[in-house]
Amino acid sequence: ESKKLEPNTPCVCTPGMMKAIHRRSAIADVVRRAAEQDGFTMNLQPVWSESAQRFVAAEALCRLTDDELGPIPPDEFIPIAEQIGVISDVTRFMLDRACAFVRSYRGAHPSSTFRGVSVNFSAVQFIQDDLAESVLAVVERHGIPASCLRVEVTESAIIANPDAVRAFMERMHAQGVRFYLDDFGTGYSNLSTLLELPFDVVKLDKSILRSATENEHLVEFFGLLASGFGALGTQALSEGVETPEQRAFLNLCGCDLMQGYLFSRPLPPDEAAAVIAASEECAEG
Ligand code: C2E
Ligand code: MG
Ligand code: MG
Ligand code: MG
Repeated sequence: ESKKLEPNTPCVCTPGMMKAIHRRSAIADVVRRAAEQDGFTMNLQPVWSESAQRFVAAEALCRLTDDELGPIPPDEFIPIAEQIGVISDVTRFMLDRACAFVRSYRGAHPSSTFRGVSVNFSAVQFIQDDLAESVLAVVERHGIPASCLRVEVTESAIIANPDAVRAFMERMHAQGVRFYLDDFGTGYSNLSTLLELPFDVVKLDKSILRSATENEHLVEFFGLLASGFGALGTQALSEGVETPEQRAFLNLCGCDLMQGYLFSRPLPPDEAAAVIAASEECAEG
């Protein structure tokens, strides 16, 4: 039989737990302030196309730096932003900066084949009723084609809110917005649900690439995965490409789109623009 705690038993916290609690609440304060004051920054990581031999798109990644805490990794502050209810401010900020980048890059490079920028959306925000309208309003305000905006959604978002995600995707897709399925291979896939949704690109999580390159039998599997998605009209993109060996492996597998430190780190927008433009000049000769 289980022993009940006596009333008034003090909670025993180790120093490590106390430290974690303090850090969390310090980060929550920083995130809340950043949400009020547009205190985030956007970095862009270019996406490489092996067939085009140039960067064809970029992913917008949120950055947050505090004077005292220094840079805070998104894996740490995004979940806190979700919990304290300010994730929609993060997304609004990122959408605005991403659309501004597209407008300025297209303006400076009118004949560019640069396709657009993808923004990460959180599972918790799909419950917002007017989400589609508010996103489309940002696109319209910047005067860019809707097809230049890509929305990254994870499997966990779909599992949490399948009907809301489906409705959002259909509404946005009708306007030309593209969708990327993020971190494929890390969730608990309901394959039938995933395959019914109109994803333009599936981002194979870096953990798949790691394990695939350690096992030669997986060349075939990885290749089938990439071509299987291709048959559905969904392009495969491999995340976390760090070495020439991994790139060669992806070439064997026929996976055209790649993102990773081998090609470029996430960069401030002006540096990303320069890197993308240089790749376009190289590809043209
Ligand atoms: P993600 O969307 O899967 O983004 C890819 C992450 O992999 C980024 O980490 C990127 O910097 C990192 N990465 C890129 N190339 C390589 C590589 O070659 N090797 C390794 N080891 N890592 C690489 P980051 O920027 O720290 O972001 C982490 C996660 O935080 C993102 O994963 C995304 O889930 C979330 N996140 C970032 N920005 C936002 C945002 O604006 N909104 C939301 N909702 N989530 C965001
Ligand atoms: Mg992403
Ligand atoms: Mg990812
Ligand atoms: Mg991730």
